[in-house]
Amino acid sequence: MTPEAAPPRTNFIREIVLDDLKTDKYHGRVQTRFPPEPNGYLHIGHAKSICLNFGLAAEFGGKTNLRFDDTNPEKEEQEYVDSIMDNVRWLGFDWEDRIFYASDYFGQLYQWAQQLVRAEKAFVCDLSAEEVRQYRGTLTEPGRESPYRNRSINESLDLLDRMRIGEFPDGSRTLRAKIDMASPNLNMRDPVMYRILHAEHHRTGNEWSIYPMYDFAHGQSDSIEGVTHSICTLEFEDHRPLYDWYIEQLGIHHPQQIEFDRLNITYTLLSKRKLLQLVEKGLVRGWDDPRMPTLSGIRRRGYTPESIRNFCNSLGVSKTNGTIELRLLEHHVREDLNKRAPRMMAVLRPLRVVIDNYPETQVDELEAVNNPEDASAGTRIVPFSRVLYIEQDDFREDPPKQYYRLSPGKEVRLRYAYFIKCTSVVKDEKGEVIEIHCTYDPATRGGNAPDGRKVKSTIHWVSAAHAVDAEVRIYDTLFTTENPNETPDGQEFTVNLNPGSLEILTHCKLEPALASVAPMERFQFERLGYFCVDPDSNPGSPVFNRTVALKDTWAKIEKRGTGN
Ligand code: ATP
Ligand code: MG
Repeated sequence: MTPEAAPPRTNFIREIVLDDLKTDKYHGRVQTRFPPEPNGYLHIGHAKSICLNFGLAAEFGGKTNLRFDDTNPEKEEQEYVDSIMDNVRWLGFDWEDRIFYASDYFGQLYQWAQQLVRAEKAFVCDLSAEEVRQYRGTLTEPGRESPYRNRSINESLDLLDRMRIGEFPDGSRTLRAKIDMASPNLNMRDPVMYRILHAEHHRTGNEWSIYPMYDFAHGQSDSIEGVTHSICTLEFEDHRPLYDWYIEQLGIHHPQQIEFDRLNITYTLLSKRKLLQLVEKGLVRGWDDPRMPTLSGIRRRGYTPESIRNFCNSLGVSKTNGTIELRLLEHHVREDLNKRAPRMMAVLRPLRVVIDNYPETQVDELEAVNNPEDASAGTRIVPFSRVLYIEQDDFREDPPKQYYRLSPGKEVRLRYAYFIKCTSVVKDEKGEVIEIHCTYDPATRGGNAPDGRKVKSTIHWVSAAHAVDAEVRIYDTLFTTENPNETPDGQEFTVNLNPGSLEILTHCKLEPALASVAPMERFQFERLGYFCVDPDSNPGSPVFNRTVALKDTWAKIEKRGTGN
């Protein structure tokens, strides 16, 4: 089951699948898989791969497996497995009962390794990792054959078995394929198939003292699962000949590997390894920090699964790596939330306003539209009283030209309420305006003047007596540079971190309809952006994350003519 998404844009991979269906290459089958290594949390780049794999299979009545490529016990953990499953489900995809692990195949892979030894296609090598590297040669120079390359089949089989049961220390031997030390493709120069590693595996415990290399496990895992189209990113193009070689030597089902471009996004790092560093060094608040490009992070920030799927489906699939503008991702979340997020009023940086001609104890109940994009969302009541809060930004004592919001002697419209005019200001000892006094015009209730006079601006507000206090977290990009990997003279990528990526505002004032919200509820705060309730919230003291700002707040509200 896969959710409805925009109709598929075609791409070269989809064309290959269509062609294979036409020629009946796999007897009508389309079997894909998403194969993460559980060594970190998924990021938005993985979402592209998930949408592609699940999307293609769903379109052609096929199936997609979730498979953990867990061949590296030192870096892999159950926590990552759990988070990956949670995030794939959250994105809206279902692998049904098809969850697999490369570690399920350790037994089979070992038998295949023995088969290759018997066929004189693999041997146990006693060179150290460093020596293997030296023997490998370079792009311009061929490698040298290992002195152990021609040891007898029986000796290799015996050593391999003793490696398996843990007789030798880590790194003392490897099992290597016997291919071609002069190959122009370094991956074909007698690559390592197994290494000795006395490490506990998150699923197989201490059963194994050797672990297959990713390259010896990946292609055969796809083969075992009957994968037809083995879709992966471009960096695996050079590994394809090796995967093909293993599969041909073993004479097993041959999936077709197809490589596509990795997603890169401006101001964003998509590498589990680097994201792990940010987490471990405490440079972010964890894998689900709303500034992180992880699915857990952007989810906590308020992105919807629909917006991420729409973003991914809008991307091209190609043979050259490029970089997508962060703005495109933001566009998709705005577009989605615009349709569904209830509008509310919230004042993030409050300035007190006293309406001098409004009766002290009176409360007016005004009707506000919940979502102009969705009539079924209805209306709500917003209380209005003598003391209000408006945004500090919406008042200037000395207004520049073109500033149409509130200033002494000027009149503005309070959204859903009345026209008010500023009559005086109160300052503290430093000369800062801490309160302003206004009068209101009772005849403008609802937002229009019977005498036809116009105001140029509509601002939002919250009644002080009814306001709910909240913490609001405002995010900027995590990095200040478009490509965070580019650093001046070899410095760490962390030099590009944005010191202003998180701003915490406390004592923000929300309208009372926001008094009891649940984590992950999403709203548009009028004129400010889209916001999502953070799980850090407590009853009576909500915490909000700003998902994304409105594009051009002011111009948009004016254009919509929603000022009344
Ligand atoms: P990272 O470098 O972040 O660790 P990875 O490629 O090592 O990523 P895997 O867990 O091996 O991560 O990836 C699972 C699948 O997701 C692979 O098929 C991989 O090609 C794909 N994938 C990973 N990153 C991206 C990306 N930025 N864009 C598209 N697909 C990606
Ligand atoms: Mg990887």
